[in-house]
Amino acid sequence: MAGRGLLLVISGFAGSGKGTICKELMQRYDNYAFSVSATTRDPRPGEQDGVDYFFIPKERFLEMIEAKELLEYAQYVSNYYGTPRKYVEEKLLEGKDVILEIECQGALQVKELFPEAVLFFVMPPNVQEIYNRLKGRGTETEEVILKRMKRGQEEAETIAKYDYLLINDDLNETVTRLHETVNSARNAAERNKDLVARIREEFVSFFKEHG
Ligand code: 5GP
Repeated sequence: MAGRGLLLVISGFAGSGKGTICKELMQRYDNYAFSVSATTRDPRPGEQDGVDYFFIPKERFLEMIEAKELLEYAQYVSNYYGTPRKYVEEKLLEGKDVILEIECQGALQVKELFPEAVLFFVMPPNVQEIYNRLKGRGTETEEVILKRMKRGQEEAETIAKYDYLLINDDLNETVTRLHETVNSARNAAERNKDLVARIREEFVSFFKEHG
């Protein structure tokens, strides 16, 4: 269906594999645009500025908040993260489905601003797996890993506010399921109010002509 794209939010526990899911989704299908966030945290080895994040100092981040350049933002384990507004608005107008890979506070802000957004929460099969994946990544200290686990426990409280859960047991299958769910959401009557309104008007016109 032509027109505006869908706004998609993908959240999940640290180590849930949500980043890999988004990358795979972008590679496989061309209807998606990935929103690169701004953050005040330091780059991890291999992360590129402008690709993984816009790595910016805290002063610049605060300026962006002030200038309303961010669609949403949140603090997560002592750093700021936010979604630059302009890219998202442009891509939605182009008809792209825009992916925001963001944490729960930001996700709920998006839901307030854009009730038609579709929210996904990615979960590994169990909690031990979250810890194993964070440990296996080898990029954070034990202290930071435990803070991220704690944050995970808090985030577990908001999962019920999401539209869909994605259990990430097998990457390929999870990506296929995600794509199919997006396509179903696109056809939901509540996301196609313009189309429904047009059909109703057409019926009215029809009966004007046919008595
Ligand atoms: P990480 O430091 O592991 O890259 O990200 C930490 C958390 O911040 C993840 O849950 C990630 O989804 C979230 N995050 C990344 N970008 C944004 C953003 O623009 N806004 C919000 N609210 N969270 C974000």
